[in-house]
Amino acid sequence: MRSFLYSGLPARVVFGVGALSKLPEELDRLGAKHALVLSTPEQAESARSVKAALGARAVGLYDKAAMHVPIEIAEDARRTARELGADCCVTVGGGSTTGLGKAIALTSTLPILAVPTTYAGSEMTTIYGITEGGAKKTGRDVRVLPKAVIYDPRLTLSLPPGLSAASGMNAIAHAVEALYSHEGNPIVSLMAEEGIRALAVALPRILEESKNLDARSDALYGAWLCGIVLGSAGMALHHKLCHVLGGSFNLPHAETHSIVLPHAVRYNHAAAPEAMARIEKAIQASDAAAGIFDLEKRLGLPLRLADIGMKEADLERAARIATEAPYPNPRKVEYAPVLELLRNAYEGRKP
Ligand code: NAD
Repeated sequence: MRSFLYSGLPARVVFGVGALSKLPEELDRLGAKHALVLSTPEQAESARSVKAALGARAVGLYDKAAMHVPIEIAEDARRTARELGADCCVTVGGGSTTGLGKAIALTSTLPILAVPTTYAGSEMTTIYGITEGGAKKTGRDVRVLPKAVIYDPRLTLSLPPGLSAASGMNAIAHAVEALYSHEGNPIVSLMAEEGIRALAVALPRILEESKNLDARSDALYGAWLCGIVLGSAGMALHHKLCHVLGGSFNLPHAETHSIVLPHAVRYNHAAAPEAMARIEKAIQASDAAAGIFDLEKRLGLPLRLADIGMKEADLERAARIATEAPYPNPRKVEYAPVLELLRNAYEGRKP
């Protein structure tokens, strides 16, 4: 076995159907008495019911969270938290809402209690992102890591099947890259393989029966594991490409991950045989890239970047941005093969 470094992040997780009822207890544990509840406008109603359940423990609801945390919204939310005298943020939502909580935590001492409702995994990482002047800047800071996370599968029942599938593939992408990460280790690999397995079984069940709480629980469990590995091991080409496509070309987050993933896996296939064998075992396929593509087809996901707003004329610029600075990846990151990868993803060719 090769040498490795393992450094786990602190996490307190309350998991299970109905776990949301533990929210007051968890706030008490943190010593928080004036929580500010955060959500997107679309999820304001469920955030309102969370606020109502907290009674006097909640001082307000800020429901303007938006994708990629625009700086104006971050500043507005920070001001609201100060004016209301909040001593904690309760984030009820996906990566966009967790991301807003992180932006507040970055410039204050407010702890985050996260209640995730998608499979994005942000609640398990010290990674934050804020968008200013059209560019998303990301960084790592331990202050933004939630102090407690409540995973209640009931809150994911309303996530539409299509978005559930795309979000689940976004989670699988974290685990895939953790398996071949330069910072990988045997513990991260255990969690990554199990995360992929749990999601690959649960997502088709959710598509058939979106209100199935067993399948929803399995998917959220898988997403939690994928979030841990995202927070524990550096990502590679796939995440870089999705960051470029989302940040510079405004493509939707989860769907972009889902479309690019099989092509990024093909790119790295020969250079990361052990990782590929574990992915193949987890999804029960003989080829990791083709197997992921087939799973996505079965889930009815979009398979072409062309269908989610990418313009053919922008492919070369995207490949240039993604290859201008070096970063660790199993196979050398070079312009021509990365452009080919993007063309294949643009056209939705089976890898
Ligand atoms: P999102 O949070 O933007 O949610 C997408 C849409 O789905 C929103 O309209 C939201 O209100 C709605 N929604 C969420 N949960 C729902 C539910 N249960 N029922 C009905 N509607 C629901 O999407 P996301 O994919 O979770 O997050 C994407 C963002 O998170 C991106 O900005 C990405 O960069 C960031 N992210 C950050 C990290 C990190 O570690 N910092 C990790 C993953 C993602």
